[in-house]
Amino acid sequence: MSESYDGGPVAALRRIAFLMERGREESRRIEAFRAAAATILPLPADEVTARVEAGTLTELPGIGKSTGGVIADAVRGVLPERLARLEAEHRGPLAPGGREIRAALRGDLHSHSNWSDGGSPIEEMAFTAIELGHDYLVLTDHSPRLRVANGLSAERLQRQLGVVDAVNEHLGGAFTLLKGIEVDILDDGSLDQSEEMLARLDVRVASVHSKLRMDTEPMTRRMVGAIRNPFTNVLGHCTGRLVTGNRGTRPSSEFDARAVFEACVEHDVAVEINSRPERRDPPTRLLELARDTGCLFSIDSDSHAPGQLDMLDYGCERAEQAGIDPDRIVNTWPRERLLSWAAKG
Ligand SMILES: [Zn+2]
Ligand SMILES: [Zn+2]
Repeated sequence: MSESYDGGPVAALRRIAFLMERGREESRRIEAFRAAAATILPLPADEVTARVEAGTLTELPGIGKSTGGVIADAVRGVLPERLARLEAEHRGPLAPGGREIRAALRGDLHSHSNWSDGGSPIEEMAFTAIELGHDYLVLTDHSPRLRVANGLSAERLQRQLGVVDAVNEHLGGAFTLLKGIEVDILDDGSLDQSEEMLARLDVRVASVHSKLRMDTEPMTRRMVGAIRNPFTNVLGHCTGRLVTGNRGTRPSSEFDARAVFEACVEHDVAVEINSRPERRDPPTRLLELARDTGCLFSIDSDSHAPGQLDMLDYGCERAEQAGIDPDRIVNTWPRERLLSWAAKG
């Protein structure tokens, strides 16, 4: 007996992709479901139904045997088997702990779209954030110097801000896509974007992505320099380490963590708890040091695909284990409080 399903084919394909992304399945396979959803989204429902009946779905670009099967089931009102299997496998919180903090989070301060090295369009990230119950999501694509990640020049960022305005106009105000950047911290501690553009953003995450093996002293100077920059709001994945995953592993950068965290307190910069399982950054010892130094925190997904927005669960569990008071986590704050903090009035 097959279960009934009334979500329609686009919802079924999106949900499959979401569950695969949060389950960290291989991205090329996930892409097929996102592409199929994009193909049928603009088509009239009648045409999709007619193609299911005539068996001509796979003539459409981007629709193969398995995506076609999902569409056919959904059109017929049957729960696609693949969706049922993924729901059974991946449903529920990604981490057992941190549920109270997760419930207190109102948004996410670190996410990427396909404008830099993310896999999905801006609006798809926003829709998924809404579905997760967020009040806000900060779009933080990379800065120009990070060419491998297709970092945004000032011109492209300017164009992106227009897209963010347009998306918000269509969303009606309960949810806000906020303007942001993950700006590279250059070797000398300066930020890789013009002051003029940085000033137009709501939230700026500053991260080290190059020369991670610098000596302790210059690395400390570099990080403190970025923290002192009046535009910096969040220090992203402070050690740069990778603990697992298909990019391999990488040790932490070396720096005077006490000096860095003291600078964060002094300049009102939040230390990011990066939720990605391959990062787990900062490591526990540094997370506890930042806690004891009096830092603010931001629990971020650093998502590069919509399903990864749900990875906040991992960061929340770590924050709970470290005994961090939710009021010190800036993304538990309402949007207005977050924005006035980030503007450094
Ligand atoms: Zn980064
Ligand atoms: Zn990032």
